[in-house]
Amino acid sequence: MKIGFIGLGNMGAPMARNLAAAGHEVTGHDPAGVRAEGVRAASSAAEAARGAEVVITMLPNGAILRSVAEEVIGAMQPGAVLCDCSTVDVANARAVAAQASAAGLRALDAPVSGGVGGAAAGTLTFMVGGPQDAFAVVSPLFEVMGQKSVHCGEAGAGQAAKICNNMILGATMIATCEAFALADKLGLDRQRMFDVVSTSSGYSWSMNAYCPAPGVGPASPADNGYKPGFAAELMLKDLRLSQQAAEAADADTPMGELAARLYGTFVEEEDGRGKDFSAMLPRLAARSRG
Ligand code: NAD
Repeated sequence: MKIGFIGLGNMGAPMARNLAAAGHEVTGHDPAGVRAEGVRAASSAAEAARGAEVVITMLPNGAILRSVAEEVIGAMQPGAVLCDCSTVDVANARAVAAQASAAGLRALDAPVSGGVGGAAAGTLTFMVGGPQDAFAVVSPLFEVMGQKSVHCGEAGAGQAAKICNNMILGATMIATCEAFALADKLGLDRQRMFDVVSTSSGYSWSMNAYCPAPGVGPASPADNGYKPGFAAELMLKDLRLSQQAAEAADADTPMGELAARLYGTFVEEEDGRGKDFSAMLPRLAARSRG
Protein backbone atom coordinates (compact mmCIF):
# COMPACT_ATOMS: atom_id res chain seq x y z
CA MET A 1 0.00 0.00 0.00
CA LYS A 2 1.16 3.58 -0.60
CA ILE A 3 1.35 5.32 2.78
CA GLY A 4 2.12 8.87 3.91
CA PHE A 5 3.38 9.03 7.51
CA ILE A 6 3.49 12.38 9.30
CA GLY A 7 5.12 12.77 12.72
CA LEU A 8 8.11 10.45 13.13
CA GLY A 9 8.89 10.85 16.82
CA ASN A 10 9.31 8.22 19.53
CA MET A 11 6.15 6.40 18.44
CA GLY A 12 5.82 7.35 14.76
CA ALA A 13 9.34 6.36 13.70
CA PRO A 14 9.12 2.69 14.75
CA MET A 15 5.54 2.42 13.46
CA ALA A 16 6.58 3.73 10.03
CA ARG A 17 9.66 1.51 10.02
CA ASN A 18 7.50 -1.58 10.68
CA LEU A 19 5.18 -0.65 7.79
CA ALA A 20 8.15 -0.25 5.43
CA ALA A 21 9.66 -3.54 6.64
CA ALA A 22 6.35 -5.26 5.82
CA GLY A 23 6.72 -4.14 2.19
CA HIS A 24 4.56 -1.00 2.12
CA GLU A 25 5.73 2.07 0.25
CA VAL A 26 6.09 4.66 3.02
CA THR A 27 6.86 8.36 2.55
CA GLY A 28 7.36 10.30 5.77
CA HIS A 29 7.56 13.88 6.96
CA ASP A 30 8.68 15.39 10.26
CA PRO A 31 10.10 18.90 10.68
CA ALA A 32 12.66 17.38 13.08
CA GLY A 33 13.91 15.06 10.31
CA VAL A 34 12.97 11.60 9.08
CA ARG A 35 14.90 8.89 10.88
CA ALA A 36 12.88 5.77 10.17
CA GLU A 37 14.58 2.98 8.26
CA GLY A 38 13.04 2.22 4.86
CA VAL A 39 10.96 5.42 4.85
CA ARG A 40 11.40 7.92 2.02
CA ALA A 41 11.73 11.52 3.27
CA ALA A 42 9.30 14.19 2.01
CA SER A 43 10.00 17.88 2.52
CA SER A 44 6.41 18.68 3.56
CA ALA A 45 3.34 16.95 4.97
CA ALA A 46 1.48 17.66 1.72
CA GLU A 47 4.21 15.96 -0.31
CA ALA A 48 4.07 12.88 1.94
CA ALA A 49 0.28 12.75 1.52
CA ARG A 50 0.13 13.16 -2.26
CA GLY A 51 -0.91 9.92 -4.02
CA ALA A 52 -1.12 7.94 -0.76
CA GLU A 53 -4.01 5.53 -0.15
CA VAL A 54 -3.63 6.01 3.61
CA VAL A 55 -2.10 8.97 5.45
CA ILE A 56 -1.13 8.26 9.07
CA THR A 57 -0.41 11.05 11.57
CA MET A 58 1.36 10.59 14.94
CA LEU A 59 1.59 14.06 16.45
CA PRO A 60 1.96 15.69 19.87
CA ASN A 61 -1.49 17.27 20.29
CA GLY A 62 -4.81 18.38 18.80
CA ALA A 63 -3.69 21.86 17.71
CA ILE A 64 -0.81 20.44 15.67
CA LEU A 65 -3.11 17.76 14.25
CA ARG A 66 -5.53 20.48 13.08
CA SER A 67 -2.79 22.40 11.27
CA VAL A 68 -1.35 19.25 9.66
CA ALA A 69 -4.85 18.11 8.63
CA GLU A 70 -5.43 21.50 7.02
CA GLU A 71 -2.33 20.95 4.90
CA VAL A 72 -2.75 17.28 3.95
CA ILE A 73 -6.49 17.17 3.24
CA GLY A 74 -6.02 19.39 0.19
CA ALA A 75 -3.23 17.14 -1.11
CA MET A 76 -4.89 13.75 -0.61
CA GLN A 77 -6.52 11.82 -3.45
CA PRO A 78 -10.33 11.30 -3.32
CA GLY A 79 -11.39 8.25 -1.28
CA ALA A 80 -8.08 8.05 0.59
CA VAL A 81 -8.11 7.53 4.37
CA LEU A 82 -6.64 9.95 6.90
CA CYS A 83 -5.81 7.91 10.01
CA ASP A 84 -4.74 9.85 13.09
CA CYS A 85 -2.98 7.73 15.73
CA SER A 86 -2.09 10.60 18.10
CA THR A 87 -3.84 11.02 21.44
CA VAL A 88 -5.95 14.19 21.11
CA ASP A 89 -9.26 15.50 22.43
CA VAL A 90 -12.53 14.10 21.10
CA ALA A 91 -13.67 17.49 19.73
CA ASN A 92 -10.57 17.94 17.54
CA ALA A 93 -10.80 14.33 16.33
CA ARG A 94 -14.42 14.92 15.26
CA ALA A 95 -13.57 18.26 13.62
CA VAL A 96 -10.81 16.66 11.51
CA ALA A 97 -13.17 13.82 10.51
CA ALA A 98 -15.82 16.32 9.40
CA GLN A 99 -13.28 18.34 7.41
CA ALA A 100 -11.96 15.19 5.70
CA SER A 101 -15.45 14.00 4.88
CA ALA A 102 -16.39 17.37 3.35
CA ALA A 103 -13.34 17.00 1.07
CA GLY A 104 -14.43 13.54 -0.15
CA LEU A 105 -12.01 11.66 2.10
CA ARG A 106 -12.52 9.20 4.95
CA ALA A 107 -11.01 9.66 8.40
CA LEU A 108 -10.26 7.48 11.41
CA ASP A 109 -9.17 8.40 14.92
CA ALA A 110 -6.99 5.48 15.99
CA PRO A 111 -5.03 6.22 19.18
CA VAL A 112 -2.83 3.50 20.58
CA SER A 113 -1.90 1.79 23.78
CA GLY A 114 1.40 -0.04 24.31
CA GLY A 115 3.99 2.75 24.40
CA VAL A 116 7.34 3.00 22.67
CA GLY A 117 8.11 -0.67 23.36
CA GLY A 118 4.86 -1.75 21.70
CA ALA A 119 5.50 0.56 18.74
CA ALA A 120 8.95 -0.98 18.19
CA ALA A 121 7.74 -4.56 18.61
CA GLY A 122 4.59 -4.06 16.51
CA THR A 123 2.34 -5.03 19.42
CA LEU A 124 0.24 -1.88 19.87
CA THR A 125 -3.50 -1.90 20.53
CA PHE A 126 -5.50 0.45 18.27
CA MET A 127 -8.86 1.86 19.40
CA VAL A 128 -10.61 3.18 16.35
CA GLY A 129 -13.44 5.60 15.55
CA GLY A 130 -14.85 6.30 12.08
CA PRO A 131 -16.61 4.57 9.18
CA GLN A 132 -16.48 0.76 8.94
CA ASP A 133 -15.22 0.81 5.33
CA ALA A 134 -12.26 3.01 6.27
CA PHE A 135 -11.52 0.69 9.21
CA ALA A 136 -11.45 -2.23 6.74
CA VAL A 137 -8.95 -0.38 4.49
CA VAL A 138 -6.53 0.36 7.35
CA SER A 139 -6.95 -2.95 9.25
CA PRO A 140 -4.02 -4.70 7.48
CA LEU A 141 -1.78 -1.81 8.59
CA PHE A 142 -3.03 -2.06 12.18
CA GLU A 143 -2.06 -5.75 11.99
CA VAL A 144 1.51 -4.80 11.04
CA MET A 145 1.88 -2.10 13.71
CA GLY A 146 -0.06 -3.85 16.45
CA GLN A 147 -1.60 -7.03 17.74
CA LYS A 148 -5.14 -5.82 18.27
CA SER A 149 -7.50 -3.23 16.82
CA VAL A 150 -11.00 -2.54 18.08
CA HIS A 151 -13.53 -0.60 16.02
CA CYS A 152 -15.19 1.44 18.78
CA GLY A 153 -17.80 3.37 16.78
CA GLU A 154 -18.17 6.64 14.89
CA ALA A 155 -15.67 9.52 14.69
CA GLY A 156 -14.18 10.32 18.11
CA ALA A 157 -14.99 6.89 19.61
CA GLY A 158 -11.33 5.81 19.48
CA GLN A 159 -10.22 8.90 21.41
CA ALA A 160 -13.11 8.40 23.85
CA ALA A 161 -11.92 4.83 24.55
CA LYS A 162 -8.31 5.99 24.94
CA ILE A 163 -9.01 8.72 27.50
CA CYS A 164 -11.41 6.50 29.48
CA ASN A 165 -8.74 3.77 29.60
CA ASN A 166 -6.04 6.20 30.69
CA MET A 167 -8.30 7.79 33.30
CA ILE A 168 -8.61 4.31 34.86
CA LEU A 169 -4.84 3.83 34.54
CA GLY A 170 -3.99 7.14 36.25
CA ALA A 171 -6.39 6.50 39.12
CA THR A 172 -5.31 2.86 39.65
CA MET A 173 -1.63 3.79 39.57
CA ILE A 174 -2.18 6.38 42.30
CA ALA A 175 -4.29 3.91 44.33
CA THR A 176 -1.58 1.24 43.99
CA CYS A 177 1.17 3.69 45.00
CA GLU A 178 -0.68 5.02 48.02
CA ALA A 179 -1.41 1.46 49.19
CA PHE A 180 2.34 0.67 49.00
CA ALA A 181 3.08 3.89 50.94
CA LEU A 182 0.58 2.88 53.62
CA ALA A 183 1.96 -0.68 53.71
CA ASP A 184 5.48 0.77 54.28
CA LYS A 185 4.24 2.71 57.29
CA LEU A 186 2.43 -0.34 58.64
CA GLY A 187 5.69 -2.32 58.44
CA LEU A 188 4.44 -4.64 55.68
CA ASP A 189 7.13 -5.94 53.32
CA ARG A 190 6.58 -4.73 49.72
CA GLN A 191 7.19 -8.17 48.20
CA ARG A 192 4.56 -9.72 50.53
CA MET A 193 2.19 -6.87 49.66
CA PHE A 194 2.68 -7.65 45.94
CA ASP A 195 2.27 -11.41 46.50
CA VAL A 196 -1.09 -10.82 48.19
CA VAL A 197 -2.57 -8.00 46.11
CA SER A 198 -1.49 -9.31 42.69
CA THR A 199 -3.55 -12.45 43.37
CA SER A 200 -6.38 -10.77 45.30
CA SER A 201 -9.19 -8.38 44.47
CA GLY A 202 -6.89 -5.32 44.55
CA TYR A 203 -4.99 -6.50 41.47
CA SER A 204 -4.69 -4.28 38.40
CA TRP A 205 -2.38 -3.69 35.43
CA SER A 206 -0.56 -1.06 37.56
CA MET A 207 0.17 -3.64 40.26
CA ASN A 208 0.59 -6.82 38.26
CA ALA A 209 2.25 -5.74 35.00
CA TYR A 210 3.88 -2.39 35.85
CA CYS A 211 4.54 -2.62 39.59
CA PRO A 212 5.68 0.81 40.91
CA ALA A 213 7.86 -0.74 43.66
CA PRO A 214 11.50 -1.38 42.60
CA GLY A 215 12.59 -5.01 42.72
CA VAL A 216 9.05 -6.27 43.04
CA GLY A 217 6.97 -7.93 40.30
CA PRO A 218 7.96 -8.00 36.62
CA ALA A 219 10.63 -5.60 35.29
CA SER A 220 9.21 -2.07 35.05
CA PRO A 221 10.48 1.56 35.00
CA ALA A 222 10.66 1.39 38.82
CA ASP A 223 13.61 -0.98 38.33
CA ASN A 224 15.30 1.59 36.10
CA GLY A 225 15.27 4.61 38.42
CA TYR A 226 11.75 5.57 37.20
CA LYS A 227 13.07 6.56 33.77
CA PRO A 228 10.02 6.56 31.40
CA GLY A 229 8.34 4.27 30.16
CA PHE A 230 5.28 6.40 30.18
CA ALA A 231 6.22 9.86 31.39
CA ALA A 232 4.23 11.54 34.17
CA GLU A 233 3.64 14.55 31.89
CA LEU A 234 2.02 12.31 29.23
CA MET A 235 -0.26 10.83 31.88
CA LEU A 236 -1.12 14.39 32.93
CA LYS A 237 -1.96 15.28 29.31
CA ASP A 238 -4.32 12.30 29.02
CA LEU A 239 -5.96 12.94 32.40
CA ARG A 240 -6.60 16.56 31.40
CA LEU A 241 -8.12 15.36 28.11
CA SER A 242 -10.42 13.10 30.14
CA GLN A 243 -11.50 16.01 32.34
CA GLN A 244 -12.04 18.27 29.32
CA ALA A 245 -14.26 15.55 27.82
CA ALA A 246 -16.08 14.99 31.14
CA GLU A 247 -16.83 18.69 31.36
CA ALA A 248 -18.12 18.84 27.77
CA ALA A 249 -20.27 15.72 28.30
CA ASP A 250 -21.42 16.72 31.83
CA ALA A 251 -20.05 13.49 33.35
CA ASP A 252 -19.16 13.27 37.05
CA THR A 253 -15.58 11.88 37.30
CA PRO A 254 -14.29 12.73 40.79
CA MET A 255 -11.47 10.13 40.80
CA GLY A 256 -10.25 11.25 37.37
CA GLU A 257 -10.36 14.86 38.55
CA LEU A 258 -8.27 14.09 41.63
CA ALA A 259 -5.80 12.03 39.58
CA ALA A 260 -5.38 14.96 37.15
CA ARG A 261 -4.81 17.32 40.09
CA LEU A 262 -2.20 15.04 41.71
CA TYR A 263 -0.24 14.51 38.48
CA GLY A 264 -0.52 18.27 37.81
CA THR A 265 1.12 19.02 41.18
CA PHE A 266 3.75 16.32 40.64
CA VAL A 267 4.73 17.52 37.15
CA GLU A 268 4.27 21.28 37.42
CA GLU A 269 5.13 22.10 41.05
CA GLU A 270 7.41 19.24 42.10
CA ASP A 271 10.05 17.08 40.41
CA GLY A 272 7.83 14.72 38.40
CA ARG A 273 8.68 15.99 34.91
CA GLY A 274 10.87 13.49 33.06
CA LYS A 275 10.00 10.68 35.45
CA ASP A 276 7.82 7.67 34.79
CA PHE A 277 4.22 8.03 35.98
CA SER A 278 4.83 5.22 38.50
CA ALA A 279 7.24 7.57 40.36
CA MET A 280 4.09 8.58 42.23
CA LEU A 281 5.20 5.85 44.69
CA PRO A 282 8.41 7.51 45.99
CA ARG A 283 6.51 10.82 46.03
CA LEU A 284 3.74 9.44 48.26
CA ALA A 285 6.08 7.27 50.36
CA ALA A 286 8.15 10.35 51.26
CA ARG A 287 5.13 12.31 52.50
CA SER A 288 3.23 12.30 55.73
CA ARG A 289 -0.49 12.79 56.24
CA GLY A 290 -0.52 16.44 57.28
P1 NAD B 1 7.10 12.75 20.04
O1 NAD B 1 7.15 14.12 20.59
O2 NAD B 1 8.28 11.85 20.21
O3 NAD B 1 6.76 12.78 18.46
C1 NAD B 1 5.93 13.72 17.85
C2 NAD B 1 6.59 14.09 16.53
O4 NAD B 1 5.73 15.00 15.83
C3 NAD B 1 7.94 14.80 16.70
O5 NAD B 1 8.97 14.09 16.01
C4 NAD B 1 7.70 16.18 16.09
O6 NAD B 1 8.84 16.71 15.41
C5 NAD B 1 6.56 15.88 15.13
N1 NAD B 1 5.83 17.08 14.72
C6 NAD B 1 5.55 18.17 15.46
N2 NAD B 1 4.90 19.07 14.70
C7 NAD B 1 4.77 18.52 13.46
C8 NAD B 1 4.20 18.95 12.24
N3 NAD B 1 3.60 20.14 12.14
N4 NAD B 1 4.27 18.13 11.17
C9 NAD B 1 4.85 16.93 11.25
N5 NAD B 1 5.41 16.45 12.39
C10 NAD B 1 5.37 17.25 13.47
O7 NAD B 1 5.80 12.07 20.70
P2 NAD B 1 5.43 10.50 20.74
O8 NAD B 1 5.86 9.94 22.06
O9 NAD B 1 5.85 9.88 19.47
O10 NAD B 1 3.83 10.61 20.83
C11 NAD B 1 3.04 10.90 19.69
C12 NAD B 1 1.57 10.77 20.08
O11 NAD B 1 1.33 9.44 20.57
C13 NAD B 1 1.12 11.71 21.19
O12 NAD B 1 -0.16 12.17 20.88
C14 NAD B 1 1.12 10.83 22.45
O13 NAD B 1 0.20 11.26 23.42
C15 NAD B 1 0.71 9.50 21.85
N6 NAD B 1 1.16 8.33 22.62
C16 NAD B 1 2.44 8.25 23.10
C17 NAD B 1 2.84 7.14 23.83
C18 NAD B 1 4.25 7.03 24.37
O14 NAD B 1 4.49 6.15 25.21
N7 NAD B 1 5.20 7.86 23.92
C19 NAD B 1 1.94 6.09 24.06
C20 NAD B 1 0.65 6.17 23.53
C21 NAD B 1 0.28 7.30 22.81
